[in-house]
Amino acid sequence: MVIVKDIEVYSLCEHHMLPFYGRCHIGYIPSGTVFGVSKLARLVDMYARRLQLQERLTEQISKVVLESVNAKGVGVIIEARHLCMMMRGVEKQNSTMVTSSVLGEFRDSLATREEFFSLIGRRA
Ligand SMILES: [Zn+2]
Repeated sequence: MVIVKDIEVYSLCEHHMLPFYGRCHIGYIPSGTVFGVSKLARLVDMYARRLQLQERLTEQISKVVLESVNAKGVGVIIEARHLCMMMRGVEKQNSTMVTSSVLGEFRDSLATREEFFSLIGRRA
């Protein structure tokens, strides 16, 4: 399993036209080809640059990673803060939205998913 953690994400919420930003973690199981780290970061940027929903962004990244290198499985997690949430009240200042998308072996195998979550420091 290849994991790249803490890729910075800056995007714009399409509901509120306000920024959301945070970190993206990508794991995949190569079937030969691997990505350079900067290539993965560029893919994230490419999809983040448009008006987005965090859920859709997460899914789009997982699909493009799966297809680009014909990976056996992919897992993507995005943890982000949304200005549209933060501006609603003091108590929302520190809330983070977490979204995940798992495909292929990451979806089929609990062990693979657990390995991914533990390597990025989360519980499955
Ligand atoms: Zn919003």
